[in-house]
Parts: sequence; structure tokens; C-alpha cells
Amino acid sequence: MTHPLIVGNWKMHGDGAWLDRVAAIAGAVAVPQIDVALCVPATLIHRAATIAPGLTIGAQDCHWAATGAHTGAISAMMLREAGAQVMILGHSERRAAGDDDAHVAAKVAAAQNAGLRVILCVGESAAERDDGAATARVRAQLIASLPERLTAGLTIAYEPIWAIGRGVIPSPVEITSVVDGIRSVLTARNVANARVLYGGSVTAAATRDLLARTDIDGLLVGAASLKPATFSEIIGAAI
Ligand code: PGA
Repeated sequence: MTHPLIVGNWKMHGDGAWLDRVAAIAGAVAVPQIDVALCVPATLIHRAATIAPGLTIGAQDCHWAATGAHTGAISAMMLREAGAQVMILGHSERRAAGDDDAHVAAKVAAAQNAGLRVILCVGESAAERDDGAATARVRAQLIASLPERLTAGLTIAYEPIWAIGRGVIPSPVEITSVVDGIRSVLTARNVANARVLYGGSVTAAATRDLLARTDIDGLLVGAASLKPATFSEIIGAAI
């Protein structure tokens, strides 16, 4: 396996004063055994990439078109030019705001065309889990969210919607079933060397157990990435 990948997702948190936090996180991740990316709001990407050249900075969404009459939108290439190297796509919060699977697939293609490394999020709802349909749902969502043509460097983040921001994490058996399902889709699509992350209420306490699993290559961290001290604890536990 390659190094574990720990991705922070700041969501819509952070203004210029938070660049101090970017610098603190950059200081904490200067270790060779681990890959860390920090996905900040679009307005911070350029400054974050400038002050922390050693830290991989990422975006959290893009438009699916390369350019055009899309008032208010930002293209993948614009985000890359600003300094983003990775891009979260298909997060359940974006899907809830209107992105369907076809939109997500088009965004994955746009981001890959722009040379960004994509972190594609998939995950079932509480109702789907209660129906015993988690793995089937995630497989179907992943199949529909992958564009026809894929380039290398794809990462999938399994993020059960019911576990995001709730302080709960699926059981090891549940994770095994869904991650096996994800990997079977990747194999069928001939996606080599894809990493699979887990995301949803990740804490430092849970990090060691999650990364001890052979089927999880890293973590996508929301709330616990906002404070350098807690994010550094997670990174420390991942080493
Ligand atoms: P959380 O968020 O770690 O706060 O649960 C994860 C995510 O939404 O990516």
C-alpha cells in the first residue's frame, strides 16, 4: 500500500484569519510517511497554497464545464490555477444541494481533464442503511458517478450520510461490505491503484483502528480538521 492519505474538508469554514491554521497544519504534516491534503474554501486556495507550498491544497467542488456562461461558477482549471491539486467531488452536501450522479460524473471528468486528483464521495442514507441496502446503493451511486473515460489517480471516499457530523462510525462489518462493493466497481472499470478512504465523524481516537484495516487507505475528515491541534492528532495517529 502507498502512504495513508488524510484529507481535511473545511467545508464553508474559514476566512483570511484561518491562514494561521493552514500554516500550523503544514508544520504538523512535514513527515514523509503520510500524504495530507487540506480542502479549503475556494477563496482561500491561492493564499493557502502560497503560504504552505509543502501542503497539498484542495477544492471542494467545481463546475462541470471548462468555461462558458455560468455566472457565479468556478471551473476546475480555475481552481487548479489558484493552487488546488486535489478536488473533493460528489460530497453528500453538494448532492443534497442539487448535484445528481450525472452532474458528479461530468465534474469528475472536468477535474481530471484539468489535472486535478479527484476524491469522489459516495455514501448511503440512514433509510438505505436501515433497509439493508447500503452496499447496493453505494455501488450504484459509484457506477453512475464515474465518467466514461477515467484517468489515473482516482480516490473514492466512503462517507455514509448518517455518519457525517453525528459522532457515529459504521461497524467494521458494515465498512467491509461497502468497501468491498466499491472495490468491485473499481475492478470492473479497470481503475488501477485507486485509494479508498473512509469519512464520517473521524476522530483521533478512531483513526488507528480505521487505518489498521487493510481495505482503508486513508480518511476524509470534516469537523476534526478545523482545528490544527485535533487534525494534527489524527495525522499523528495515522503515522
Ligand atoms: P465529519 O465530516 O468528519 O465532520 O463527520 C466529514 C465530511 O463531511 O467530509
